[in-house]
Amino acid sequence: MKRVSFHTLGCRLNQAETALLTSDLLEHGYQLVEWGEPAEVVVVNTCAVTGIASRKSRQVISLARRRHPHAFLVVCGCAASDPGLMRGAWGRQVDLLLPNPKPQRLSAYLPEEPRHPFLAPLPVVEEPLPEDGFVLPGVGVPGERTRANLKVQDGCSFRCTYCIVPSVRGPARSRSWEDVLREAGELSARGYRELVVTGVNVATYRQPQGDLADLLEALLALPGDFRIRLGSVEPGPCLERVIDLMARNPRMCRFLHLPLQYGEAGILRRMGRRYTVEEYAATVRTAAERIPDICLGTDVMVGFPGEDDAAFEECFRYLDSLPLALMHVFCYSPRPGTPAAEWPARPPAAQSRPREKRLLALGERKAREFAVGQVGQVLPVLLEEGAGRRQGWSDNYLSVVVPSLPPGCEEKEILPCRIRGVLPGNPREVVGEVVPG
Ligand code: SF4
Repeated sequence: MKRVSFHTLGCRLNQAETALLTSDLLEHGYQLVEWGEPAEVVVVNTCAVTGIASRKSRQVISLARRRHPHAFLVVCGCAASDPGLMRGAWGRQVDLLLPNPKPQRLSAYLPEEPRHPFLAPLPVVEEPLPEDGFVLPGVGVPGERTRANLKVQDGCSFRCTYCIVPSVRGPARSRSWEDVLREAGELSARGYRELVVTGVNVATYRQPQGDLADLLEALLALPGDFRIRLGSVEPGPCLERVIDLMARNPRMCRFLHLPLQYGEAGILRRMGRRYTVEEYAATVRTAAERIPDICLGTDVMVGFPGEDDAAFEECFRYLDSLPLALMHVFCYSPRPGTPAAEWPARPPAAQSRPREKRLLALGERKAREFAVGQVGQVLPVLLEEGAGRRQGWSDNYLSVVVPSLPPGCEEKEILPCRIRGVLPGNPREVVGEVVPG
């Protein structure tokens, strides 16, 4: 039996796609082994959203080749769609290149023998772009045993001026309604207790049966004891009904990750984002008012061309004024082929690094304030199976350590836990105890 291992970089969508590639190979007689263990086939699912992500992808490819000199090395994902990546030495390390969209049947492309790097050119397999209403065979096999990512959408037709995603994933298209429900039903039947709805721009999900809010409602109507977490979602018109659903249905995790990117009107406009700072703040405040203890998260990028001290201070004050509990902070990195990559007035690292640091500190403070505010609350916590120490995730995205389990309670269950305190170190980590039913 051939052994295969995967290494996935980047977003939840990439993880969902690795899970589907895994399911196909297991169906075709492959054995999944841990990354780093001996394997005949090694798959690196790459990311290109930032310069750092591309660099990390290249590093993992080289590491994979060093560790597995004789394995068949497959590279897929967003960096594989970046023509620059595979030129020269990189290309020679790889046996098969799969730019997006990922094949539905990877097993069909795996030959018996690896190619000779100098004798045979690098095979590149480009599958046609799936149409709207696409179907994905199989049921994802995630690396975890309690939560699974559920791909519902791919691509993006927005054109934010800094973003490479539309050029490496293509225009927006939605997965077939029935196919989403099919995989969700299967994942629930296999014991996954949390399904994370993911895509590139899930806010644009649309099928004849309905939009994102309708799909979430349909997922919640499926039989089975599982909860739904919505992955990162672009701020936009569909959120009103999503917030309403989240306020009404306890099986919807109280979690909304709304990438803002910047908190000052001028820079936001230059980024080509589709909302104003006022509209974004209104959405966030509405969610906080309607859904008590919701975890509101965001992405923010510093160092964008045109950013100066005044813009940054305004952005800082704006973020500080919002009820956010989670902030991912990045430094802008020019991406090949994007409009902003050509723009002047990009702040030097000597300015953007300290700004990044200040926002990271703000994010840490807000996360801790949120966690402290949860002390005394009873939260539904999904305990991870086999995590060594007993740990799980609350619906509002706190990592909860549960020292002991009352008799009759098991891991992989969603249990009511009273939060007893915030642990030192990671501001998202708390300690809790199960409240006997
Ligand atoms: S919405 Fe903007 S940032 Fe997000 S994937 Fe689309 S183009 Fe990129």
